[in-house]
Amino acid sequence: MFNRLYVHVPFCVKKCHYCAFVSTSPEEAELSEYPVLLLHELQLHTTGNTPLASIYFGGGTPSLLQPQHLSELLDGIKAHTPIREDAEITLEANPGTVDGASLKEFRKAGINRISLGIQSFEDHFLKTLGRIHTVEQSRQAFLDARETGFTNISIDLIHSLPGQSLDQWRSELQHAIELSPEHISIYGLTIEDGTHFARTYVPDSPELVDDDLSADMFELADKLLTAAGFEHYEIANYARPGYRSQHNSGYWSRDGYLGLGVAAHSLLLDGYGVRFSNPDNLLEYRQGILSARPARIDEHKLTLDDAMSEFMFLGLRLSDGVNLRDFERAFGRSLESAYGPATTALEQLGLVVRKDEVLALTLKGMLLSNQVFARFL
Ligand code: SF4
Repeated sequence: MFNRLYVHVPFCVKKCHYCAFVSTSPEEAELSEYPVLLLHELQLHTTGNTPLASIYFGGGTPSLLQPQHLSELLDGIKAHTPIREDAEITLEANPGTVDGASLKEFRKAGINRISLGIQSFEDHFLKTLGRIHTVEQSRQAFLDARETGFTNISIDLIHSLPGQSLDQWRSELQHAIELSPEHISIYGLTIEDGTHFARTYVPDSPELVDDDLSADMFELADKLLTAAGFEHYEIANYARPGYRSQHNSGYWSRDGYLGLGVAAHSLLLDGYGVRFSNPDNLLEYRQGILSARPARIDEHKLTLDDAMSEFMFLGLRLSDGVNLRDFERAFGRSLESAYGPATTALEQLGLVVRKDEVLALTLKGMLLSNQVFARFL
């Protein structure tokens, strides 16, 4: 039914100016009770015999959890569900919330991959973004993680920041390369409804980076990071060989996953799959778990058409593309018969390329991925 576990921790020190994720500033008692609720929730699920291939603590700011509580949570998960020896276990960490001592404890608890939300190597951009940390703290967190023994560190960067030039972005990428992480995730800033940024910037504000410059920044990242030895293996993700995110690769390959916690999403592989999410309100989530009747929001049993469509728009995110034989094996029909006209049109536009048994996005297709994916909906 699932072989991956996602754990959402909906707490942050304060809201970043661009952030539309579900997160609140926690009370001490909420922080310590939350891991207990997560374990209750897990126990409400039968897990079958498939060992977990990955666990991902995301948020929010999961590094706000006490290492001791995270350790107990991981022990509880292991007691309930088999975990593969080589499972990837990631903790997202805000550089303003960790130090050498806490990172050491997280590692001891079983975390073997750290994802640091560095976002920018310029303090004035961090301020604009409303981040709680400085560049110095980001660097220190990275060095502490290395010193503690983490050999798999990912960092996040954001481009198209208000007022950012292409040269400033080039310098951000050079700093990232110098730090030498195993993995880099790169996102273009988008202005989401309900955020501080949405109240600050009107559409077409002169401070905002326009689409052409944003595309140049995307292409520059591809050029500099691949030249530095990173594989551009997914639209927004780069990795040293052997260091792709196993957990996120599972999402793009439609592996089953269970999401625990406030607002967490799940895909359980029953038939063509069932998707649902948890309430995005802590109180409602808590009541559901304590009464052993957790609410499933937007539960949707996927049809054959839904599953084929997901196979395409998730699989195409990966530079490996979608394999025509895999499609046929999964759905009993050829990709050509399901999406022939769409793929031909996309090939003619130069957005996808077919090589042997594989259909994959071109760089232009990555840039215009939403237009590509719309053809498979
Ligand atoms: S730390 Fe991450 S989740 Fe929390 S407010 Fe900032 S961007 Fe959002």
